[in-house]
Amino acid sequence: MIWNPEAEREAPAARAARQLERLRETVAWAVARVPFHAERLGGARLRTLDDLAALPFTRKSDLREHYPFGLFAVPPGELARVHASSGTKGKPTVVGYTAADLDVWREVMARTMTAAGARPGDLLQNAFGYGLFTGGLGFHDGAERIGMTVVPVSSGNTARQQLLLQDLRPAGLCGTPSFVLHIAESMIEQGGDPQALGVRYVMCGAEPWTDALRAAIERAFAARAYDIYGLSEIIGPGVAGECEARQGLHVCDDHFLPEIVDPATGTVQPPGIEGELVLTTLTRRAIPMIRYRTGDITRLTTEPCACGRTSARIARLKGRADDMLIVKGVNLYPSEVEAALLAVEDLQPHYVLLVDRTTTLAKLEVQVEPAPALLAACGGFQPDHPRLTTLRRQVIDRLREVTGLGMELTLVAPRTIPRSEGKAVRVIERR
Ligand SMILES: [Zn+2]
Repeated sequence: MIWNPEAEREAPAARAARQLERLRETVAWAVARVPFHAERLGGARLRTLDDLAALPFTRKSDLREHYPFGLFAVPPGELARVHASSGTKGKPTVVGYTAADLDVWREVMARTMTAAGARPGDLLQNAFGYGLFTGGLGFHDGAERIGMTVVPVSSGNTARQQLLLQDLRPAGLCGTPSFVLHIAESMIEQGGDPQALGVRYVMCGAEPWTDALRAAIERAFAARAYDIYGLSEIIGPGVAGECEARQGLHVCDDHFLPEIVDPATGTVQPPGIEGELVLTTLTRRAIPMIRYRTGDITRLTTEPCACGRTSARIARLKGRADDMLIVKGVNLYPSEVEAALLAVEDLQPHYVLLVDRTTTLAKLEVQVEPAPALLAACGGFQPDHPRLTTLRRQVIDRLREVTGLGMELTLVAPRTIPRSEGKAVRVIERR
């Protein structure tokens, strides 16, 4: 089933004409209302879609530097809602929506969820977090638009998730892939059988997930699992999603124009070549985004899809162009960890961050060396020395405060962490 056949099966030439028209409108709107865009884009000529490649990029740092409303094209009083993503340095990235923007969001969520098997009348258990994060309300609104019944459980509380799955028997379940699998695994540990719940489809997103994790979710629930992609800077979830063919994620490209660029040079790459995804909003009014660098690495294809949709597709994400990690749906910059560690006098600036994604919920562990002066005072390296134990506890608390994430901390013997002359390997991810 296709939610909006007219838009989703539009002939490529007609869609391209629509994209160009909307691109011109968006640029004109942004230039007229946002000084940041007026300075950079004033005088831009858009004769064809290819002319987009000559416009400058917008980056997450631009949002931070114009925090909170500097990139907004409407006064705060005209916003219907704001969301925010977790950010570094204590300031989130704030984005806004007019009533019309929310309508677009509901439409693209309805499209991507329908492509994943959601149907009117289905019960959906929504295990994405509700709040400033766009996951919870994004899926909620999309489900209501389709005509589904939403169970707004939000994230966390595994026991309640299991109870509701058992008693309400939803057709669909959505949440971050690691949390969804955690629900199933802990149910099995307690002697339950997630396969007997009758879940037909699972919709996941908000963190990178491998095909191995997908296979584990599908086995656990005896259901199909679909990838839905998005980011709040563009709209939230619903930018792109898989259809039943699962040959990439269909981009709602009448609303979001995708490009792939070389992450180092910024040069536009042809279809099939891997690079960084760059997105331009074509209809968003509150905070138009021109050539936004998502940091996500993927490929684009415009080949026809078996499902009949004619939109461009992106391959499942390969990773990040920059150092940002997404753990449990939270953005984590290794630099935050580094800053927290370096502020502690009793620690050496030698550390490594281990991200273990082989378990259901990603686990974080920081290994760091204590300072020689402290070790001397303790009579050498003794991991169980009370002073080291106290230090360990203090640093764990500090890391949680700074990053919003719980992580393990191991104090290791001097010279354990490999030294590097060049760029040190600070992050080791296991998948
Ligand atoms: Zn398709």
